[in-house]
Amino acid sequence: MPKEVWYQVQAVLDAHKSAADATQVHDHYLKGTVYCGQCGERLIITNAKNRHGNVYPYFVCSGRHSGKTECTRQAMLIEDVERLIEKYYEMIEVSPGMRQDLAGKIHADFDLLMANETKELSRLTSERDRLDEERMKLLQAHYSGAVPIDLLKQEQDRIADQIGDIQHRIEAHHDEYASARANLDDSLGLLANIVSVYERADDANRRLCNQAFFHRIFIEEDGDVRVEYERPFGSLCDTEEQMNALNWAAEAKKKGEVQTGQRVVTLVEGLNLSHLG
Ligand SMILES: [Zn+2]
Repeated sequence: MPKEVWYQVQAVLDAHKSAADATQVHDHYLKGTVYCGQCGERLIITNAKNRHGNVYPYFVCSGRHSGKTECTRQAMLIEDVERLIEKYYEMIEVSPGMRQDLAGKIHADFDLLMANETKELSRLTSERDRLDEERMKLLQAHYSGAVPIDLLKQEQDRIADQIGDIQHRIEAHHDEYASARANLDDSLGLLANIVSVYERADDANRRLCNQAFFHRIFIEEDGDVRVEYERPFGSLCDTEEQMNALNWAAEAKKKGEVQTGQRVVTLVEGLNLSHLG
């Protein structure tokens, strides 16, 4: 596995590690993630004897088991449920091309968002400059004897607070976008490699993968799987979002070609001119 992918996997999974995981280490890695497709209650593990007297671990619906719901869901072999989840990852993994298109679209969206906030940023920046100036003037006024020391101190504290506040808002703005972009890149990297990542993962990391991707996984009677995604995988796996990314990439490519064409024309004209000159 490429180093870059490994780093991305760790980044996404680390974000989902919690104190609760450490205490659940002896439970099956799917416990807490899989739910009954019929009544929506959790699936719990029970050991049952088959007709040959062998003991097998099964998932059963806790709603049916406790009599809390009218559910009629049959027990499911745990390894069958494990396979269903593996198959689901095979279905949602994105190709390298789709990964590229999604990343391109997402970063373009971020660029747009940031451009829209540029006005606000420049307002904050000039406000900070104005306060800096005010501070200098105040100091000069103090030196010329116009402002007593206690007023100087009071005013300087006020200005320092305001500058600190503005500085904080400017930095938060940059950090927020930077970390959101990084998180999306990491998540995309994981989504584009999830089949092999999940295949090689130990139980603890499989649990983390499932927790990163899914809020809940519902197992239906006929072996269908229905999921509630965690962010940002809900958007990344959404077919409409993926179509939008494809269209965006095609459009961007077209625009890129036009621009390249124009650049070539300009270059040729320049050559002609230098020829004439
Ligand atoms: Zn049920």
